[in-house]
Amino acid sequence: MEKVLLHTCCAPCSGAIIEWMLANGYKPTIYYCNPNIYPFEEYQVRKQECSRYAAAQGLEIVDADYDHAEWQCCVKGLEGEPERGARCLECFKMRLLSTARYASEHGFTLFTSTLDSSRWKRHDQIVEAGQWAAAQFSGLTFWDKNWRQGGLQERRSQIIKEQDFYNQRYCGCEFSMSAMHDDKKMARQRIKRLISVMTPEQKAAQSAAIWKRLEQNQVFNNATDILIYWSMDDEVQTPAFIEKWATSKRFYLPSIQGDDLVVKRHAGISTLTPGQSFSIPEPTGEPVQDLSHITLVIVPGRAFDAQGNRMGRGRGFYDRLLPQLPHAVKAGVCFDCQKLPCVPTDDNDIKMDFVI
Ligand code: SF4
Repeated sequence: MEKVLLHTCCAPCSGAIIEWMLANGYKPTIYYCNPNIYPFEEYQVRKQECSRYAAAQGLEIVDADYDHAEWQCCVKGLEGEPERGARCLECFKMRLLSTARYASEHGFTLFTSTLDSSRWKRHDQIVEAGQWAAAQFSGLTFWDKNWRQGGLQERRSQIIKEQDFYNQRYCGCEFSMSAMHDDKKMARQRIKRLISVMTPEQKAAQSAAIWKRLEQNQVFNNATDILIYWSMDDEVQTPAFIEKWATSKRFYLPSIQGDDLVVKRHAGISTLTPGQSFSIPEPTGEPVQDLSHITLVIVPGRAFDAQGNRMGRGRGFYDRLLPQLPHAVKAGVCFDCQKLPCVPTDDNDIKMDFVI
């Protein structure tokens, strides 16, 4: 079988091309080089899917570095370009130059890219970038076959379903996220998947950075009574932060009662017991009736946007609780992968005053 290095952008774009190559006498080595993808959790999910498919086909996958800062330098000044414009050409050049270098250093004479499988990308730009990259090294050819033709587009859609691939909702970079129009169900599913690839260390590091930013906020410094939450595994972690400030602030936690949240005074970790829903630790005392002294509410959510819009888990707990605290500043907290360009909202959703 003939050797070919296949730059792979994602599993959905790869399936039909790999299948065609294997059926036509080519053995591709997968080269995963996509530092354009943002956030990092989205990159990890897409890479996992490629690795899963490569392993199922018995193919080697080469994992190139993720250096998003370097990618940002390559497209500097082109951030406002539309998709399929000048930024995309530079993006292709960077990824295909890395592919060409690897090919040259590892004895390949032929390379190509799955980028060409997407009808949202320009074939002429991919060919231009690939030929430019190949020309930087001797004895190397960019295979400029149009991978959308010959039934491959149709087969692409079939394989996505057969393999149940994670099918991304935007091209990859932060500038392409505005093209994403998820409904609430899609956004919740997508974010659940992104959080699932975060390690405990990544969650702890992002949580610590969020609390550090909050500690620099005047609203936090002035607040003596704060309604916060006891975190679940997929939320910004709160226990260490609560513990740190327990002697100088009065913290309150939500407690689930039927379809509602009530507010209870937090009196230390040893006093918490598993709640009636999700087994989230809750205080045991009576609900606080007068909430007027609580000046800051720290609100978890599944997604937030820069306008302060929040999407919860879908049960509306906070949408019913927050109107009881109209005087309090509402701060949304979330991991980077939970920040969307635009959160789908409806009339009941309460806006945050700021999001960290
Ligand atoms: S829209 Fe896609 S191809 Fe264009 S710069 Fe962003 S990630 Fe690269």
